[in-house]
Amino acid sequence: MTRLSVVKGDITKLKVDAIVNAAGPDLLGGAGVDGAIHRAAGPGLVAQCRTLGGCETGEAKITTGYRLPATAVIHTVGPIWHGGDQGEPELLASCYRKSLALAEQYDLKTIAFPAISCGVYGYPISEAVDVAVSTIREYLEDSKLDEVLLVAFNDEILAAYEQALEG
Ligand code: ADP
Repeated sequence: MTRLSVVKGDITKLKVDAIVNAAGPDLLGGAGVDGAIHRAAGPGLVAQCRTLGGCETGEAKITTGYRLPATAVIHTVGPIWHGGDQGEPELLASCYRKSLALAEQYDLKTIAFPAISCGVYGYPISEAVDVAVSTIREYLEDSKLDEVLLVAFNDEILAAYEQALEG
């Protein structure tokens, strides 16, 4: 059975098979977790990302991890929050599903997610973590993955994940 757990910390430090990046559609780096991942990975990452032709919201693309402890980076583009009636929950769920499917496709067994869309993209945290936990749980009913980590960068997100996992 696949384990699903929450850890507090910096996703760039994790020695897992794949970390997920909450990327922008150009995949060329930005603020928040995206910037942290690109800084830690070094210039090889953006060079590979330039070859990928960007990424649509709700989709995911994979690269190697370069100087990161993680083997691979799965870049997914979360929805910008526009009030919730612009397909945001479906797009956010798609980010989680497509990322998990890419990990499986590449035979990666452990994957860590940041709280996609919960930073500058403005998705309300409790709603976003409910989408994350329910989508991942549903996916893990039939999967070859060993472990999925939800990485909380601050106490607010940590508490939200803990509450969602209890439900
Ligand atoms: P988005 O544009 O999808 O909202 P952000 O990077 O602004 O992406 O924020 C997504 C989440 O990533 C936020 O909850 C933020 O606190 C978190 N975050 C920022 N840096 C890191 C990091 N180094 N490791 C893990 N999570 C991080």
